[in-house]
Amino acid sequence: MELAGEFKLIDQYFKPLTGPEALGLADDAAVFAASPGEDVVISTDAMVEHTHFLPGADASLLARKLLRVNLSDLAAMGARPLGYLLTLCLPKTISGDWLRAFADGLALDQDIFKLRLWGGDTTSTRGPIVASVTILGAVAQGQAVRRNGARPGDLVYVTGTIGDGLLGLAAALGEIADMDGYLAGRYHLPTPRNALMLAGIAGAAMDVSDGLIQELEHLARASSVTITVRAQDVPLSPQAERFRDRLPRLLSGGDDYELLLTVPPAREAALLEQAKRAGVPVTRVGWCEAGEPRVTVLDQTGAAMTIAATGWSHF
Ligand code: ADP
Ligand code: MG
Repeated sequence: MELAGEFKLIDQYFKPLTGPEALGLADDAAVFAASPGEDVVISTDAMVEHTHFLPGADASLLARKLLRVNLSDLAAMGARPLGYLLTLCLPKTISGDWLRAFADGLALDQDIFKLRLWGGDTTSTRGPIVASVTILGAVAQGQAVRRNGARPGDLVYVTGTIGDGLLGLAAALGEIADMDGYLAGRYHLPTPRNALMLAGIAGAAMDVSDGLIQELEHLARASSVTITVRAQDVPLSPQAERFRDRLPRLLSGGDDYELLLTVPPAREAALLEQAKRAGVPVTRVGWCEAGEPRVTVLDQTGAAMTIAATGWSHF
């Protein structure tokens, strides 16, 4: 125990968020009964003050984004959410209001995405706030959707719209106009596509957290295919349409948390059916071919575009 009143803090703010697996946060670990015939899918993502959010950021939105970026990884693997662990490194000066807002944000999204808190760790720090979630999900045995499952002839799809994350950050920083707040909203509160159940349908999938082009390159490499994308086919929101002249930039940056996926032509109808059922818009943007693992982006005239920045890298 490090933080003054650590146990009281956990009891007050986090115990109400737990599922039965947490054993009331009264034990040393959570216990979860894995279902036969299923694989457990695990992922983790952290958010660090100054790196992912600024001091004074809304704690509720922060909590929800943290949970959502983790949920997005499960969506990309075709797994349904089960539960999550939460690690918090907090300055001793953290206020009750901050913790209340953070826990309320988690409660809100737990209800929306149907998962509960299973445990975590809380410590004090003299550094920035660090909040980390480890998420667990389940998928039918052997059906996790990998990045290496794209084959020549497969079609390339994306969910939702691309570029809003990048523009949303610019909007949040006051660099561009954002009358209705839509763009900043997309940045602060992405919509993970867990409703779209890709297992058994998509050949390969991943989420778009570091720019579409960079993610396409990861997928092309993992699957050893050439991917060609028509820039004009990449869906933009009405709010992002104003920035179409900067399309290469929109395609190469930003945390959109949409899904990028490939589907064999024989399963395209199943994808469209599933997308309709889930209420998740999907758009065909390109195709896979046999060849060097690389990505070509075509402009309106069918000529290959040169795209300088290919995504965000922390280092
Ligand atoms: P340990 O001594 O093993 O580090 P702790 O005393 O840190 O255990 O934690 C006690 C209980 O509280 C455990 O069940 C743990 O999962 C839970 N817990 C601690 N911090 C958090 C948190 N931030 N969110 C959810 N549960 C937490
Ligand atoms: Mg601990």
